[in-house]
Amino acid sequence: MIGAEVAHTSRPAGELSNSAPAEIAFRNVVKRYPGRDHAAVENLSFEVPPGEICVLIGPSGCGKTTALKMVNRLIAISDGDITIDGRSVRQLELTQLRRGIGYVFQQIGLFPHMTVENNIGTVPRLLGWEKQRTRARAGELLELVGLDPSSDLKRYPGEFSGGQQQRIGVARAMAADPPIMLMDEPFGAIDPIARERLQNDFLRLHRQIPKTIIFVTHDIDEAIKMGDRIAIMRAGQLVQIATADDLLANPANDFVAQFVGADRGLKRLRVRRLDEIELDPPTSEHPTGPTISRDTTLHYALSLMLAEGTTRVDVVDGDDHAVGSIQMDAITSLIAPHDVSPDPTPARVAAQPEEEPAS
Ligand code: ADP
Ligand code: MG
Repeated sequence: MIGAEVAHTSRPAGELSNSAPAEIAFRNVVKRYPGRDHAAVENLSFEVPPGEICVLIGPSGCGKTTALKMVNRLIAISDGDITIDGRSVRQLELTQLRRGIGYVFQQIGLFPHMTVENNIGTVPRLLGWEKQRTRARAGELLELVGLDPSSDLKRYPGEFSGGQQQRIGVARAMAADPPIMLMDEPFGAIDPIARERLQNDFLRLHRQIPKTIIFVTHDIDEAIKMGDRIAIMRAGQLVQIATADDLLANPANDFVAQFVGADRGLKRLRVRRLDEIELDPPTSEHPTGPTISRDTTLHYALSLMLAEGTTRVDVVDGDDHAVGSIQMDAITSLIAPHDVSPDPTPARVAAQPEEEPAS
């Protein structure tokens, strides 16, 4: 479904929106809303290296949307700074800043009175693209997100399901090929099966056209799947930022341990691959029992052992050469829970409704 030609879309020299992925850095960022006792975002510091997907996760009301909207200044920063490739977003000219950033809203936010083509073409039009180029790009993106350009470009958002509208929202955010994308619960309103497809499509797309992405979700499984790194927030503060594997293996405190789930050991088996762990020697040069490729997950290896009624499988490389073997115990020992320290973060922000307050 995803055309490789998109990766070769012509890139006019000097256009900010066509530059390579950029680094985003939060430096002691604070947001105080007027009339509120506590800061919505408090001293937030982390970096997203170029081309990485950083997932922001945490309970409703913990400040995810606020943090995201400060990057493109939909919300003003109270204190601290956010930089893009070392340049403060406060210093960048607003339209220039926003053209370089694709934004997918929590509530989709398509323009209902505009066709899909015009919705996707919003930023290209601002950039002064010719109609023909904008249309071609809209069609290309629609195909990329799994819709049909020949029939869907002229339709209106109301004619599509929630999931399809979110796909259109993703296409719109990508229209001018921005180096940065901010995605606020982009797949939130989609049923689990369609969501999984969209996640897979999006990851495939990201491998083809890397961008620096901050991706907000409140679903830990989505975070584990999508994030190169996961930043867990609570009450406006960063509690831990780590790779999924590290987060599952070493949650910083009880809050994180609870958030990632009691089954974190099992979850970890889904993110660790055989080529990341030390293997035992192969049982023989030409194993006769079940074999498994070394780029598969520990979860799959364990499932295979259970299905085959064996406690050891041989691991093979791409040419089917035995490179080692693994025993069930080595996998199950990773599931065992570890001790975590008590949670030092004060619990003070009560759960908030999902709706975004008017701003
Ligand atoms: P999340 O996206 O994690 O659910 P938000 O960033 O939307 O959280 O909100 C963080 C906190 O800031 C919440 O307590 C919320 O009520 C508050 N808040 C958000 N927007 C505003 C606003 N415009 N005015 C006042 N308070 C707000
Ligand atoms: Mg939010």
